[in-house]
Amino acid sequence: MEIDKPCTKSNKKGNEEAPCILACPIRQDARDYVQLIARGRFQEAFRVVRERNPLPSACGRICTHPCETKCRRNSTDAPIAIAWLKRFLGDNFSHETGKITSEKYPEKIAIIGAGPAGLAAANDLALLGYSCTIFESNPTPGGMLRMGVPTYRLPRTAIDNDVEYIKKLGVEIRYNTTFGVDITFDSLKKDGFSVLFIGVGLSESRSLNIEGVQLEGVLKGVSFLNEVNTTGSAKIGKNVLVIGGGAVAMDCARTALRLRTDKVSVACLESRKEMPTTDFEIEEAVHEGVALYNSIGPKRILGKNGRVSGLETLKVKYVFDEQKRFNPAFYEGSESVIEADTIILAIGQASNLSFLKGQEGIQITRGGTIIVNPNTFSASVHGIYAGGDVVLGRGTMTESMAQGKKAAIAIHNALRNAALKDEKWAEKTGSARCG
Ligand SMILES: Cc1cc2nc3c(=O)[nH]c(=O)nc-3n(C[C@H](O)[C@H](O)[C@H](O)COP(=O)(O)OP(=O)(O)OC[C@H]3O[C@@H](n4cnc5c(N)ncnc54)[C@H](O)[C@@H]3O)c2cc1C
Ligand code: SF4
Repeated sequence: MEIDKPCTKSNKKGNEEAPCILACPIRQDARDYVQLIARGRFQEAFRVVRERNPLPSACGRICTHPCETKCRRNSTDAPIAIAWLKRFLGDNFSHETGKITSEKYPEKIAIIGAGPAGLAAANDLALLGYSCTIFESNPTPGGMLRMGVPTYRLPRTAIDNDVEYIKKLGVEIRYNTTFGVDITFDSLKKDGFSVLFIGVGLSESRSLNIEGVQLEGVLKGVSFLNEVNTTGSAKIGKNVLVIGGGAVAMDCARTALRLRTDKVSVACLESRKEMPTTDFEIEEAVHEGVALYNSIGPKRILGKNGRVSGLETLKVKYVFDEQKRFNPAFYEGSESVIEADTIILAIGQASNLSFLKGQEGIQITRGGTIIVNPNTFSASVHGIYAGGDVVLGRGTMTESMAQGKKAAIAIHNALRNAALKDEKWAEKTGSARCG
């Protein structure tokens, strides 16, 4: 059968590309490394992954792998395990000494934030020959990969290996340095930086505007995860309720389960099939013992002696209105109570753009994301670029890396008056056969 032939590129026509590549935000060509793995050439396979992917080890662990959803083998049996194969390479073959780069160009580039977007931009700019310095408020790199993603899903050695490689390319990372506090637009200019890439992500957890949120025992999702990720523990009770239906809520619930709790539940507005996360993540949470309450909304948080005792809820009529806008409505008189001694709010993240004070030229949306040119990622002020979650609103690590990579090319083109193109991002159809 044709589909069982090994993947090759030989029968690809001009404007065609394999669907898995088109589905991948960074256009990783999985066929290359999958074939090398099949031949036992593992180190070479890792090198091929690394050429396109600035964070290969982390990606192998937590990329949401849209490539597999589009894999042609879905129509035969199951997709090629593209992400698991990348994980195998990252876990075992990532100890490379690094590529030697030479600074070819005089311009110094400042990057704010050592998350996937900033690291990807720095990686690609260093490879192009620029001197890059990343300024990061935290004492460690990785952004949400380190602050938010639990260690059972992403061992920190994976982030460390990836970042070590980027540092060996010549990228400097200055930790404990907050843009807007320790450094400013003016100070960077004075220090000779001619271009700025902003990759600050979404550092603030959203809260609920309901009675009881100030009670002891109400925690914010990413703060809770960050505390567990950095100290190994957090002050929670035995009966934990997470509010939210996305990936962060699943991480909070599964992390709480690992802290010797008796019961962990998740309550969300969405029905099971509307939940904004992958089936896989929901199934894992349920499999581990998380109780799911779908289609209910929070009315107020109940308390006893200043501490949380439960959540009063209402049944949801609909989450999205006829225009498909998020606009939940509830059934009157449908109140019920879920008992809990800890409530974790995992209902989304927001940006902190306080460093933009005095830079009114940079346009932002009502939702607090930075507006950029979708092709060049330049913001509305000359020499300033942005990418990652602070532009996407809510993205994935691979989407954030893609924006950092695209911005790197655009910065190079602007500085050199060049027309460098990455052919992988050219418009293609997903009709190429794999075999
Ligand atoms: C709990 C959780 C689980 C997730 N799980 C997955 C997953 O499984 N798969 C997936 O693909 N994606 C996942 N994501 C999403 C992914 O982590 C983000 O899309 C990605 O990290 C965004 O990258 P970024 O570089 O834009 O921002 P971030 O990763 O947020 O990094 C921004 C960096 O900027 C720094 N910073 C902020 N402000 C300043 C300042 N003023 N000065 C200096 N530094 C600053 C921050 O400290 C941070 O290090 C998850 C997110 C969370 C919260
Ligand atoms: S980076 Fe993610 S989407 Fe791209 S090929 Fe790898 S697993 Fe698939």
